[in-house]
Parts: sequence; structure tokens; C-alpha cells
Amino acid sequence: MKTIYSAEIVSVGTELLMGQTVNTNAAFIAGELAAAGIPSYRQSVVGDNPGRLQQVLSEAVSRAALVIVTGGLGPTEDDITSECTAAFLGRKLVFDETSADRIKAYFSDSGREMSSSNLKQAMIPEGSVALPNVKGTAPGVLLEFGTDLGPGDEKIIILLPGPPSEMRSMFSEQVLPYIESKAPVRMRSEYIRIFGIGESAAEEMIRDLIDDSVNPTIAPYCSDGECMFRVTLTKLEGAADDDSSLLRIVQEIRDRLGEYAYEVGNRSLPEVAFDLLSERNETISLAESCTGGMIGAALTDIPGSSGVFKGGVTVYSNDSKIRLLGIDGDLIEKYGAVSRETAEAMACSCMKLFGTDHSLSVTGVAGPGESERKPAGTVFICLASAKGTVAFRELKINRDRNGVRRMSVLNAFDMIRRELSGI
Ligand code: ATP
Ligand code: MG
Repeated sequence: MKTIYSAEIVSVGTELLMGQTVNTNAAFIAGELAAAGIPSYRQSVVGDNPGRLQQVLSEAVSRAALVIVTGGLGPTEDDITSECTAAFLGRKLVFDETSADRIKAYFSDSGREMSSSNLKQAMIPEGSVALPNVKGTAPGVLLEFGTDLGPGDEKIIILLPGPPSEMRSMFSEQVLPYIESKAPVRMRSEYIRIFGIGESAAEEMIRDLIDDSVNPTIAPYCSDGECMFRVTLTKLEGAADDDSSLLRIVQEIRDRLGEYAYEVGNRSLPEVAFDLLSERNETISLAESCTGGMIGAALTDIPGSSGVFKGGVTVYSNDSKIRLLGIDGDLIEKYGAVSRETAEAMACSCMKLFGTDHSLSVTGVAGPGESERKPAGTVFICLASAKGTVAFRELKINRDRNGVRRMSVLNAFDMIRRELSGI
């Protein structure tokens, strides 16, 4: 049996090289490989050019046991991945009857006319296995082959379609189970997600655990104000299926990070806040100024949000704060639109307007310039409930405009989750 020790990812498409398409396929596959415990040491991007594509394939195959290629399996002239793979291996393309039938059925089911070029997608390199495409037409290709370099040099090339939805479902449903069956190690990872403390301060709290970690290993990940620690246990082939050491470390990290740890698992901060509201059958409304609807957008990203989120107002100008929320113009005049007093008034009147259990308001200076003589990054967030103001934050966020807005959103959800979990 072939054993996969490392993989490489090849992304095919001139549009990737020209910056017209972001290479999300490689990011997705890389993440899946990492989670499955398959090391991947290189990624390449190559245009729709036969010579260069064959060269990239040959380089990747010389280094890695598994090469996963995406893109260029379509019906048009510039879709050359199958041909180039066959040519590189010195094989013919052969007509795969089953794939052809699936392509015909795909068109007749969707009531569309099939052009003869679509059948080109049923041509796969000789000796390969077609992977059915449930979301589109081009089948994927799985090719196991030996090299003449000697024993232990068996290789696997997998070709996947470029459109991300087709690629992802084919990868998750067909490729991943195949890869996992060939990997010598198993990995299990848990994620501890934190908010409200910087990466280095959080690392300090668990420094000794990180330094001593061999298996499981502990790795920090931070981006855009969100941080998490990944704890990964590697189980060698044949080892007992025992996760207790992983669970022990996860619990220890969670205990040490205390109130900053909002989740062990995959839920985002908005999802955690949403679930807390949902479990209690409570509702919320939003009065957003500098976030311009971003908090509402994050809530409505979550399926089932209508049970919790009743509505919001984007009150960007003083005039709209006065007219839509009935805020006293004198109050804004006296304290400024970016002030604790205005934030509180916004949350309280928004709660009445929507008749919700809670309401959250945000008013701040997103920047880059200052406003009301308050520096960019000054943000006031208020959470109100029947008792009046239940939580309040005055932030000084030292980021660019987008960063100020994003951090405001995360802080808003952190306030909700802390309030509802009694922290
Ligand atoms: P099609 O049948 O649509 O031609 P294909 O397998 O030939 O599919 P491509 O033509 O390479 O794939 O790409 C089709 C579309 O899929 C691209 O226009 C792009 O939107 C998307 N795509 C391709 N490669 C990637 C990638 N690496 N990351 C994200 N999106 C991609
Ligand atoms: Mg194409």
C-alpha cells in the first residue's frame, strides 16, 4: 500500500497569476491536509500553459508522494490539466463512459443543452479513476502510479475542478477519506478560542505548557484581533485510541485563560453570543453608527438569527440619531455623538423601538481623521437590557479604519457573551 508522507498543492489558472482570482482552493486544501496531519511543504501556482504546467507537475511529483491539482478541468480550450497530466506521464487520454453518462444526466436534469465540448471532460488519463462531481460536470481524477526511481516511489496525483464549491465537496467526500486511509499518522486537534487579551499575554499565561508540549503540541494562531490555541495530538499507526492527554491539556489551558476563553471548538465569537441569547430565548436589537451594520451582518450570517435578532438602525449622522432614535439633540450637543451618554441613550431607545430584551449600541471614530476632537479609534459600546445599561466599554483601538470597525464588532459580541454568561 502507498503511504502518504507529504503533499504538494498545484493551482492552475492564469487568472490566479494575474490576481483576478484569490487562491482560496489552495488555502482550503492546505487547511484540510494540516487537520488530517499530512505535511505539505510547497504550493505552486501556474497559468494555463502546457509546458509550464508539465514542468510544475514534474517538480511537485519529484518531491511529494501526493500532488493535488485544482483547476483547468473544464470543457474549454484553455482547460488543459488532464491532457498535461497524461502527457507528463506518457499516457493517453481515454473516454470514461460513466463520467460521460453523468455529464449528460447533469445537463438533462437541469434542462440545459449540452455542447459537444462538454464530453471532453469525460476524457481522463489512462489508468486513473474518475471522481464523480456532484456539483458540476468535470469529474476529478485519481491517479496512482509508480516511478522508475525505485521502490517506495509510488506517487499519487489528484486532479480537482477549479470552482470552489465543486472542489470542496469532492475533496471532503471523496479525497479526504482516501488520503486518511493512506496516512501513517492520525491527528486530533482541539481549538481554544480567546478574546480580550493579546497574543503574547495569553502565551505567557500558558508558557510552561507550550514549552513542555511535545505530543500534544500547542500552537497559537492570531489574526485580526482573534486568537486561538490549537492543541494537536498525533497518534501513530496502531497506537491506542486514547485522547485523554489532549483533553487534559485543553482543560488546563481553558482553566488558565479563564474568562478570556470563550470557546473550545469551532464556534466564532458572534456564534457563541448568538447561542447564549438563543438558549435563553432572548432577543436583541442594534443601533450602529461607526460599524454601519457590521454587527447586524455578523448576526444575520448565522442561520436561525431571526429568532434572536429583531432589527437594527444604522444611525450614522446626528440627525438620524435624533430622528430615528429620538435622542435628545441637546445631549449630543453637550457630550458629543461619540460619548458614553449618547451610546447609552442609543441603546435604551433602540430597545424600546424594537421591543427587545437587549439592545446594543456603537458610536465611535473609525478614522483615519479625528472627530469631535476625539482621536480615531475612540469607540463607545453600550449594552442595555430591562435593568438599563448592563455593560459599557470605552475603547481606544489603535488600528486602521477597517480594524477599528472589526474590533468594535468583536468587542460588541464579547460584551454580550460576558453579560449572558455572568462574567
Ligand atoms: P470550469 O469547468 O468552470 O472551466 P475548471 O476546472 O476548468 O472549471 P478553472 O477554469 O480553472 O476550473 O476555474 C473555474 C473557476 O473556478 C475560476 O474562474 C475561478 O472562479 C474558480 N477557481 C479556479 N481555481 C481557483 C482557485 N485556486 N481558488 C479559487 N477559485 C478558483
Ligand atoms: Mg475552466
